[in-house]
Amino acid sequence: MLALVVFGITTGWMLEPVLAGRGKGRGGGKPAPAPVLSEEEASDLLFMREEEKLARDVYTTMYAEWGARVFDNISQAEQKHMNALLGLLDKYGLEDPVLKPAGKFANTELQELYDNLVATGLQSRLDALKVGALIEEVDIEDIVIAMESTSRSDILNVYGNLLAGSENHLNAFVRNIESITGETYVAQWISQEEVDAILGR
Ligand code: MN
Ligand code: MN
Repeated sequence: MLALVVFGITTGWMLEPVLAGRGKGRGGGKPAPAPVLSEEEASDLLFMREEEKLARDVYTTMYAEWGARVFDNISQAEQKHMNALLGLLDKYGLEDPVLKPAGKFANTELQELYDNLVATGLQSRLDALKVGALIEEVDIEDIVIAMESTSRSDILNVYGNLLAGSENHLNAFVRNIESITGETYVAQWISQEEVDAILGR
């Protein structure tokens, strides 16, 4: 053990502050400082936190209007996604951009998107379901892109859960849409090939 400690000190691996968590509990000292994310990793997390809120708030509004259970179930999943992202924001010392009121967003792009999606979704139950599917397609694209910009396992884990959730949600919305239209769902944002793969077609 002593040899290991001496080896660690002389080679410096015991002093490595960048490796998050590894220093914890070693030598009874202070916990390692939170590692610094790249600008892109940070901006992706901040954007994603609000993007999940957009999904939650649209579905909550659509449930209130149309009473379709799919919106209630999925809005609860989006809350969990928001919570997971908040955990990462806290861990990395990033300030939460989320505004408390439903339908309000710090990011103006998301605010505009929200307003448009709600206006469309209030036109009919079918429009609302299509809005749901569109949100999930957009989320899938954004998550996949964000996954390419990080190699941190904690972030990739959360993104992986979000992605699996979005794929399930897309499936659920498509089933509901097709039961109304009787027609095969047509992709709205990502490619038809990607959508078909997600739907197992
Ligand atoms: Mn989600
Ligand atoms: Mn979703």
